[in-house]
Amino acid sequence: MKLGLTHKEIATIVDGETVNNIDGNVDILIYDTRMITSDRSGVFFALQNKRNGHAFCQKAYDKGVRCFVVSEVVSLPEDACIIEVEDTLEAIQSVAKNHRNKFSYPVLAITGSLGKTMIKEWLYFLIKDNYKVARSPKSYNSQLGVAISLLEMTENHDFAIIEADISHPDEMSKLEEMISPTLGIFTGVGTNYEDNFESKKQHNAEHLKLFKHANITFALNEEYSALRRSKINAELTDIEEWSDFKPKETPFAKNLTLALFVATFLGVSKPELLEKVKLLPKLSNRLEVFEGQNDNLIINDTYNIDIDALEQSLEYQFSSDEREKKVVVLDLSNLSEERKEQIIFLVESYKPDEFFIIKDATIPKELKELKGVSVLFKGSYNSSLKKLVKQFKNRKHETWVEFDLKAVKHNIDIIQAKLQPQTKVLVMVKASSYGTGDVNIPHFLQQVGVDYLGVAYTDEGTTLREKGIQLPVLVMNTEQNAFDDITKFCLEPSIFDMKNLVAFREHLLKEGLTDYPIHLTFETGMNRLGFDAEDIPDLLNYLKDQNEIKVKSVYSHLADADNTDKAYTENQIQQFTEIKSKIEKAFSYKILFHILNSEGASKFGETASFDMVRLGIGVFGYTSTAKEDGLLPSMKWKTTISQIKTLKTGETVGYGRSYKVDNEINIATLRIGYADGFRRDLSNGVGKVFINGKLCPVVGNVCMDMTMVDVTNIDCQAGDEVEIIGEHIDMETFSKHLGTIPYEVMTSINKRVSRIYLR
Ligand SMILES: *Cc1c(COP(=O)(O)O)cnc(C)c1O
Repeated sequence: MKLGLTHKEIATIVDGETVNNIDGNVDILIYDTRMITSDRSGVFFALQNKRNGHAFCQKAYDKGVRCFVVSEVVSLPEDACIIEVEDTLEAIQSVAKNHRNKFSYPVLAITGSLGKTMIKEWLYFLIKDNYKVARSPKSYNSQLGVAISLLEMTENHDFAIIEADISHPDEMSKLEEMISPTLGIFTGVGTNYEDNFESKKQHNAEHLKLFKHANITFALNEEYSALRRSKINAELTDIEEWSDFKPKETPFAKNLTLALFVATFLGVSKPELLEKVKLLPKLSNRLEVFEGQNDNLIINDTYNIDIDALEQSLEYQFSSDEREKKVVVLDLSNLSEERKEQIIFLVESYKPDEFFIIKDATIPKELKELKGVSVLFKGSYNSSLKKLVKQFKNRKHETWVEFDLKAVKHNIDIIQAKLQPQTKVLVMVKASSYGTGDVNIPHFLQQVGVDYLGVAYTDEGTTLREKGIQLPVLVMNTEQNAFDDITKFCLEPSIFDMKNLVAFREHLLKEGLTDYPIHLTFETGMNRLGFDAEDIPDLLNYLKDQNEIKVKSVYSHLADADNTDKAYTENQIQQFTEIKSKIEKAFSYKILFHILNSEGASKFGETASFDMVRLGIGVFGYTSTAKEDGLLPSMKWKTTISQIKTLKTGETVGYGRSYKVDNEINIATLRIGYADGFRRDLSNGVGKVFINGKLCPVVGNVCMDMTMVDVTNIDCQAGDEVEIIGEHIDMETFSKHLGTIPYEVMTSINKRVSRIYLR
């Protein structure tokens, strides 16, 4: 944002009375004192929001602001320029409109009930190599949000995408005046028009006011009559016309179609689009799935109560087998009788085991008593349900990790695209799927169609079976006293020496089992577990005249695949190729051969994927070449602040008093400690966390359950969210602080930290 205005110019633009005539320049528009940074001069607009902005004028002044737009009398020192107006929000809108009118490049506005942010982000992604695009941050689409979005425009851009939303009749004209869009996208109002509008027609017509002066508005064929009725100049398309891009295979076919349609109109070629579509960013409006209290699985979809979205959520709940019993909880307040009936009819058609409709924000007793079921919560964004869902969370402890399952799927797709087409995918889910939790990731992998799972030890395999995983499971490390469980749970042992081979066959003979699948592991340079090439003659001899054992696969493991010097790996692959040629000709049936792990698949996927790859860390997006390969990070780790304190010079922090205060500081105590996996090595500035826009170093020693960080000059309070790993502190950086690797970070997060899975 760069306003480049003088105090006088602002007064003119907002049509205000200046109380004193102090002139000066301002660059940034501020409506929240947390936005103030010392290096740029700002103008503070005192808005009448949840909090009355007039109470913050002095704070803004103290932080260096000298120009104020107010609608109440405020008293400030003499060197402040005070501009009085009737309505401060309208004043911001006037500044935004004035700013927008400085630019003559195209401004595309998006409105409708659903999908605006997704379409905006996707279109941006599709055209960003062809245009310098300014766009609304996040979902800034309200009366204030649109104004703030327009201020993003600068002379360095040549295209703008702005979202607009309305919740009441007669709101759109102001937005239209501010944005003056030259192009438009209308996403339709769907069935989601209940709130404050009389009818779908009225809702449509109000949205479409945005485009009355636009040159062209893009929409789907189904909006034809609405557009015609409002006399909008439109270009229409249909999902079918984009079949090359397979929109129907995504849950957001309409949004994708619109983004593609407009990108094509703006000159992006089809081949380019085909490439880009594979990499579309994933967005966060989605189902939240987590383990709740009483072993319930909670599916939280309290974003809206649109029928199409409800159907998707039900589809997900009833097609997943994570819990056998299905329960649906709805909040239908503020809906018309007709819509209520439609919704109830739809839910009943899925035949849930139990079905609750919440009234007056109270949770029925029966709902609280449920155990081991999956519960779908569905209600509009404003409904009481959003808060109620929180009570079902397994919140022993306000520290949690989030896993983005869409990123996981994306990563598998990206890696798979590199492999020879017939190659199968085994995902290693050892150590509770790299610390992500016992069964959610395996269930997800089963749903998205991976071929095999692998674990380290037998009990990890039995857990998978007990939780309903049916995929074949390879167990890397078995011993004789686990053989009973291996066959009882249909697990497939990996055998690494003759002694175990013989013992396992004896077990099969005793159980009367034949053709039982096993895997043979070979040494090629890892020097951990495995037969040597010299063992092959004995091995083949032993396996020749028996029918208890069937060799399902033969594999080896790479020791140095992340090294940019590929020589060692190439040598391992060479040895493995020789082992393969010796073994395969001795069997009349097909055996799967595999050697690549995630790093290996990234570097050798095109040439050495053999019949299968074994992926682990790559699925989560943390290989050494993740960025170049287009893998997405899938994990965030968060905690919260429990208390804030101010410490005076000379005081000390924590056990051992290892931090002494030089200058008065503010510290925050976080709900995370070394018992959670936030290791003690992070004490005294080695580790940092991210709070409300800033990095905060650890002060003192990390305790078992708590950690203190420096939050001097950071606007924060008890309860605020703290990022341990996420967008600002990535996994790589965090691992480096600890002198370790992502594998160890992921698997060291304690079980008491709750896990949330985003779909
Ligand atoms: C853990 C493991 C993998 C997966 O390794 P990543 O580096 O996480 O891809 C593959 N094979 C074996 C034998 C493993 O132990």
